[in-house]
Amino acid sequence: MADYNQMLVLDLVRRSRGISRVELVRETGLTAQTVSNICRRLSDADLIRETGRVSAGTGGAPRTIFEVNASGRFTIGLHIDPARLTFVVFTLAGDIVQRLSMRTPDTPEPEAMLAEIELRIRQLIEAAGVPTDRVAGIGVATPGPIDVLHGSVRDAPNLPGWEDVGLRAELERRLGLPVVVEKDTTAAALGELWSSPRPPQNFAFVYLGTGAGAGIVLDGEVRRGASSNLGNIGHMSGDPNGPICPCGGRGCLSLTALPATLVGEAAARGLVASVDLGDARAVEKAFAELCAVAVDHPGGEEAAIVDRAARSYARVASQLANALDLEAIVFGGPQWPALMSAVLRIAPPLISKAFLFRALHDVETRGASTNDDVGAVGAASLAMWATTFDAPTQLFLPI
Ligand SMILES: [Zn+2]
Repeated sequence: MADYNQMLVLDLVRRSRGISRVELVRETGLTAQTVSNICRRLSDADLIRETGRVSAGTGGAPRTIFEVNASGRFTIGLHIDPARLTFVVFTLAGDIVQRLSMRTPDTPEPEAMLAEIELRIRQLIEAAGVPTDRVAGIGVATPGPIDVLHGSVRDAPNLPGWEDVGLRAELERRLGLPVVVEKDTTAAALGELWSSPRPPQNFAFVYLGTGAGAGIVLDGEVRRGASSNLGNIGHMSGDPNGPICPCGGRGCLSLTALPATLVGEAAARGLVASVDLGDARAVEKAFAELCAVAVDHPGGEEAAIVDRAARSYARVASQLANALDLEAIVFGGPQWPALMSAVLRIAPPLISKAFLFRALHDVETRGASTNDDVGAVGAASLAMWATTFDAPTQLFLPI
């Protein structure tokens, strides 16, 4: 249990802006002696530090205040999206000291992409001026399906050539650092757990990217499922009047609400220029244009397309909230900035109205605490959990 307690204390110190030993004892339920021992170990490891003493008021002894030593550890977060690569250099305090967002290379085949990733990570660490011995590891968020046991990507539908790429082994070999691989939707949920000052204990992170997925947190813990591929919501129905999907369902999200579909529909009506719908980067650009016009012209045809997608996401989010008894729906991901306006206008009342347990508690609908970097931040926080917080390996590291 020592490791768990240490993780708990470190996490409390990290989330606070400064916390005393007395408060740590109160919050953890541990004995004063145990908390003192843990604080000493964490100080010796350069993970926390004392920031001075403040008076405890009349008569009491002055209190030592602990805060996290932000530069005690760093991790790298990488989010591989079919349209975009995002890198962050992340401190123990959760600050991003360096970031890079770039379009996914023209040749996203594994070898070229891995070489590019290696180069960029080396450049970022150098540009951040971070001592390399303080870089604890690398977290990678990637579209699924992933094989978490081997740290590899399996037949990712939106990454051509990535039939079975040993991402973890390859990056560990190239960079000499521990690497953890996570599905992008789960990484996003982890990022929210890390970044939110008071994260909800039961929420779905509805991830809007080239595809749509959900990361699920129940009872304060992220859930992964049997093969760590939980969260494929593409064939949940967003529109009961929508077209029949090849899966046999009607109005599935993957058929009605994804950026490629919406761009295709807008192009067919002459609202945006035609693009190759298999080209994630071209779709991203056209989708941003479509959504921007929708915001500027609320009654227009563009807005009708985008609003319908927002209703589809609300419908699927409602089903998740009811099936899992959630207290929050958090939207985010690479396409969130484009969809935010429509979704935040349309989804909250629909989700609240459809929520079956509203006599008992509310379900909050909001955007992610971290905006468009959420996959990279989630990956970086995963690497921090796994390497620095002595997190249980069955939860955070492939065995
Ligand atoms: Zn379907």
